[in-house]
Amino acid sequence: MIKPDRIVTTTCPYCGVGCNLQLHVKDDFIFKVTSPFDSPVNHGNLCVKGRFGYDYIYHPKRVTTPLIRKTKQEAGKRTQAFDLSEWREVSWDEALDYVADNLVRIYKRDGSDAMAVYCCAKATNEDNYLLQKMYRALFRTNNVDHCTRLCHAGSVVALQQAIGSSAMSNTASQVMMNDVFIVTGSNTSENHPIIALQMKEAVRQNGAKMIVVDPRRIELVDFAELWLPLKPGTNVPVFSAMAHVIVKENLVNWDFVNSRTEGFNEYLESLEKFTPEFAEEVSGVSAEDIRKAARLYAGAKNAAIYWGMGISQLSHGTASALALIHLAFLTGHIGRDGTGLNPLRGQNNVQGASDMGAMPFHYPGYMRVDNEENAAKWEKTWNIEPGGLSRKLGLTTTEILSHAHEGGVRALYIMGENPMMSEPNLNETRKHMEQLEFIVAQDIFINESGAFADVFLPATPFAEKEGTFSNTDRRVQRVRRAQKPRGQSRPDWQIICDLALRLESRLGRATAKWDYSNPEEILREMAGVNQDYAGITYDRIEKVGLIYPVPDMDHPGTPTLFKDSFPRGKGKFFPLEFVPVMEEADDEYPFILTTGRVLEHWHGGTMTRHSALDEVYPEARVEIHPADAEVHGIKDGMPVRVTSRRGEVVLRATVTEKTTVGVVFIPFHFAEAAANLLTNDALDPQAKIPEFKACAVQVFPARENELPHPEVMLERGRY
Ligand code: SF4
Repeated sequence: MIKPDRIVTTTCPYCGVGCNLQLHVKDDFIFKVTSPFDSPVNHGNLCVKGRFGYDYIYHPKRVTTPLIRKTKQEAGKRTQAFDLSEWREVSWDEALDYVADNLVRIYKRDGSDAMAVYCCAKATNEDNYLLQKMYRALFRTNNVDHCTRLCHAGSVVALQQAIGSSAMSNTASQVMMNDVFIVTGSNTSENHPIIALQMKEAVRQNGAKMIVVDPRRIELVDFAELWLPLKPGTNVPVFSAMAHVIVKENLVNWDFVNSRTEGFNEYLESLEKFTPEFAEEVSGVSAEDIRKAARLYAGAKNAAIYWGMGISQLSHGTASALALIHLAFLTGHIGRDGTGLNPLRGQNNVQGASDMGAMPFHYPGYMRVDNEENAAKWEKTWNIEPGGLSRKLGLTTTEILSHAHEGGVRALYIMGENPMMSEPNLNETRKHMEQLEFIVAQDIFINESGAFADVFLPATPFAEKEGTFSNTDRRVQRVRRAQKPRGQSRPDWQIICDLALRLESRLGRATAKWDYSNPEEILREMAGVNQDYAGITYDRIEKVGLIYPVPDMDHPGTPTLFKDSFPRGKGKFFPLEFVPVMEEADDEYPFILTTGRVLEHWHGGTMTRHSALDEVYPEARVEIHPADAEVHGIKDGMPVRVTSRRGEVVLRATVTEKTTVGVVFIPFHFAEAAANLLTNDALDPQAKIPEFKACAVQVFPARENELPHPEVMLERGRY
């Protein structure tokens, strides 16, 4: 048995559960991962990604030297370069000077609107805080966003409107206090496996009743009291019909509605049309099951709702989330332990990156950028002249790319994101990327987006840096360095500070602080304004982390929010209408495609597809129901071509009852059969989140030789 030199406790870099990991290190090499049994998040449990998905940090294709493209790229003629022979290895000084010269050249010529940055939900709070600060303080732009836009933006907008806060109201482990809970739009077993464990325990040990509302027969259905298999995009009628039943059968918690909410009467009028029979007609879920679900939820002592991207990734994602919020308001299942509204956040630090202001409408702490008082606070903190920060709302991730043209965005800085996998309608995304004049990629691999860049800045993965992540529970936890950075790679925060100093001298704007000696100094600067983090220091989170809000140094943290009031005062009901998905199935495209994750992989695959997990789940598959497969002559394992109005992919079929009739499912991790070549870029008008969860497609049998050749992936450095 190998004896480790040291065991370093840190936080998992994959999903929002935020499991605690112990990295076993020998000779500066991590050879094993375990988990502490006393972790309040995961109690010693880990899923396959946390346990085995770390070896990407040793993959030979990892880039550990700064690179500049050999051939100068021109807007409109930009190409992808996965092969290192197309790049020149350079020193950090040369790379950072090159980035600074080009960003300042474009800024001086075209102004703030030409500049944009993607922050990163995989990076630490400190990294994200600094990157948004650099763009706001130096380029005076709010064109700052990250992948929160692509996962829970609908939930965020709805919760902000109705409550005034977009975080989970309770912790995930409080599922053990629920006697009834709803899981909707979340394949929790594959996306948040450790939370799914707790859900199953709540059912088995405590006799809690679980209601699953999902178009797919996900694993949790085996443990559920009720499964409502709705058609994708019909959340509003199903949940509003539950509300209809709660009102008609007088199951309303009137004390709560009268004392804690407003807007009930207008909402009530809009509810009339959402009868269970109407919901059955549009969603396919039986009216009787809707009634049963409503009675179960309303009649519970402690009930909660847990949801995922099946609610938010729709062109009416905001309305979908509002329909859930209304259920909690009607029944008073919020503001107590074991109740609540809980959007399960996807990435390890999507909560933290949002808290840090990596968004176009908000400074850190969800302070609107168009509010004078907020702007003045950050101007003071960053030593900027009054009125210096932009009050103009910035562009969102998808808008940043659609504005990539003459007179629009010209320079894009990408830290750790991969829009060429994660944006909808990738053929359009490609055209936009080609139009950019200058691209910087700061990452660990040259992924599909980094391959378009002019400069590559090699950053360190989680195991080679210090900092914090904030998980889906709002728990702020430590990230710790277990080994030296490989090659010349550097932690993101150090790269940003060095670049910011170069930008300052070129812009003649030596104002804000950039000479931090450690990441905690960065967190403390942010916490000086963002009161949620005011009482958080590295010392205080040394062992188990703290759940914000932590308003002072003696505060123990806040697992349950909204006990006495909501941040906006009263909770607000909003009248809702039924809006169908933008693209419904028809004769030409008879299936609805829905997309999501699988247990073994993560998002665009930059990490997991360079790990041993890729051998366990090596290729994309489209799931199709046996009844549909028979009609279309498709057998299990057969190559098929899936086409939409925007693109096509060829991949193998899995014939399974996990999906329902008329619905096919493709995971979005596989570049060689990228699901987002097919998806629709229609946006929710308020949240600007694309409709990843529903578009119309056709499925045809294909030939073996039409499948993507493994060499395609070799070229891309995936293997
Ligand atoms: Fe990591 Fe999430 Fe798995 Fe926990 S459940 S080990 S945080 S991927």
